[in-house]
Amino acid sequence: MASESLRCGLSMLFFPFMAQGHMLPMLDMAKLFAMRGVKASVLTTPANAHLVQPFLDRANNGSVPEPMRLLLVPFPSDTGLPPGCENLSSIPSAEMPTFVDATRRLRQPFDLVLRDLLPDCVVTDMFFPWTYDAAAELGIPRLVFHGMNLFTLCVRDSFRRYRPLESLSQEAESLVVPGLPHRIELLVSQIPHFEKAKGEFAYQMEESESKSYGVVVNSFYELEPDYARHYREVVGRRAWHIGPVALCNSDTNADKSARGYEDAIGRDDCLKWLDSKSAGSVLYVCFGSMSDFTAAQLRELALGLEACGHPFVWVVRSDGWVPEGGFEERVEGRGLVIRGWAPQILILNHVSVGGFVTHCGWNSCLEAVSAGLPLVTWPLFADQVYNEKLIVDVLEIGVPVGVAKKKKKEATATTREGEYDQVVDAAMIKKAVDQVMGGAEDAQERRRRARELGEMARSAVMEKGGSSYKAMSNLLLELSMDKNAAGEQYAN
Ligand code: UDP
Repeated sequence: MASESLRCGLSMLFFPFMAQGHMLPMLDMAKLFAMRGVKASVLTTPANAHLVQPFLDRANNGSVPEPMRLLLVPFPSDTGLPPGCENLSSIPSAEMPTFVDATRRLRQPFDLVLRDLLPDCVVTDMFFPWTYDAAAELGIPRLVFHGMNLFTLCVRDSFRRYRPLESLSQEAESLVVPGLPHRIELLVSQIPHFEKAKGEFAYQMEESESKSYGVVVNSFYELEPDYARHYREVVGRRAWHIGPVALCNSDTNADKSARGYEDAIGRDDCLKWLDSKSAGSVLYVCFGSMSDFTAAQLRELALGLEACGHPFVWVVRSDGWVPEGGFEERVEGRGLVIRGWAPQILILNHVSVGGFVTHCGWNSCLEAVSAGLPLVTWPLFADQVYNEKLIVDVLEIGVPVGVAKKKKKEATATTREGEYDQVVDAAMIKKAVDQVMGGAEDAQERRRRARELGEMARSAVMEKGGSSYKAMSNLLLELSMDKNAAGEQYAN
C-alpha cells in the first residue's frame, strides 16, 4: 500500500502493553496511521526498545512520510519481578498480576511524556486504564486498544450485562451467551476466569473505557458486521475497525519476518523449505508467544503430526524439549521444527501453506484470515476461547481440536486460567487436521470461505474504498475537527 504524501497534521502517541501479542499489532497500527500522514510516536521501556526500533527503522526507510519516533520511560524498580523483566512474554504467566501492578507505576513518567509531547490523541492498551486520567487532565482524547475483536467485546459485555453465571445451576456444563446476534454456546469449564471473578482493576478498566474517546479494533467490518452493529447499538460505545493491521507489512519479505524477536530460522532457509512443498500442502503449527505445553502434550502433538502425513512447520516454544523416539528422523524432509520464534506472517502467506493449527490468539487468527487459510482451533486461555467460537461457529472457517472438557484446577488470582487436565491426544489432532486439510466437500467449502475472507481483509485495509481504510479516514477527520475546534476555542 502506498503511503500518502498528504500530511494530516495530527500527532499521535501509541503506548502498547509490553507483551508480544499487544506490541506487534500496536506497532503495525502506528505504522498504518503514520502512512496516512500522522506524526506517530511509540512509547515503551528500555528493555523493549530492541523489539521496537528495528520496526521503526524499516518503516522510516520509505514507508511513511513523517519518521516514526521511539520514546522511552524507565520501567519501575523493586517490582518483585526478576531484574530486566519488562515484557510479559519473557516471564511465567503466574507473574501477570505482578507485571500489571508494576506497569501502574508508569503513570508519572507517562504524564511527563504527555506534557512534553502534547499529542492530539493517545492510543493506549486496555491494561493501562490510568492513561485515560493522565490524558483527560490535558484534554487529550484517549483511544483504547484491546487486541481483541468486537465479537469478543460483545461476549464480554453480555457477561457484564446479563450475569448469566449467577443463575447457572451447579450441574450445568454449558451456557448460551445471552443477547448476541448468534447462538454462542460455551462450556462452563472454558469460560475465562475474568468473567467469574472481577477485581478492582477490571472495574477500573471498564470505567476508563466508558469515558474514553472510543476503541480502535484490529479486525475489519466485513468479518463481524453483526457485532459492529451490536457494539454500537447495545454496548453503546464507539469503535473503529481499522485492521487487519499486520497487512501494513505486505510489501516485502523483510517486513513479514523478524517481527519482535529474532527469528530462529533464516528467512531464506525457511522460504527454501516451503518452496520445496506443493501448493496448499503444508500445515503450520504455532501457539503464540506465551503458550507452554507439558511434555505429555508435546509428545501427543508430535505423534499427531506424524500420523497426519502432511508436511508441517511446527514452532516449539518449550526450552530444551526434544521429541523422543527418533521423531525428527522419521519426519525428516516432511516436518520442519522451529525452536523459538518463527517468521509467522511470512510462513502463513507462502503458497505451500494450506492450514494453521493455532491457539486462537487474535493476532494469529487474523493473520490466518488475511492469508485466506482455514484453521484447526486449540484455544488455551482468555479470549482465545471466544475467538474459537467466532472462527468455528460464526465464520465457519475452522475445526476445533476438541479442547477443554475439564480443568485440573480452577484459576486463581495468580494463575492465568487454570490448567486443563485433558491432554489432547494424537487421534484428536489427526482427526481435526484431516478435516481441515482433506479434500471432502466441507473442507473445500471451508477453504473457499477462508479465501474469500482473505480477499475482503486485503481490500478493507489496502484499497482506498476499503472499509478499514475509510474507518481510519473518518477517525482522522474527526480528530482533526476536534483539534481545530479546540484551537478555535482557545483562540476565542
Ligand atoms: N508470532 C511470531 N512468531 C512466533 C510466534 C508468534 O511472529 O513464533 C507472532 C504472531 O504472528 C502474532 C503474535 O506473535 O502476531 C502472537 O499474537 P497472538 O495474539 O496470536 O498470541 P499471543 O502470543 O498474544 O498469545
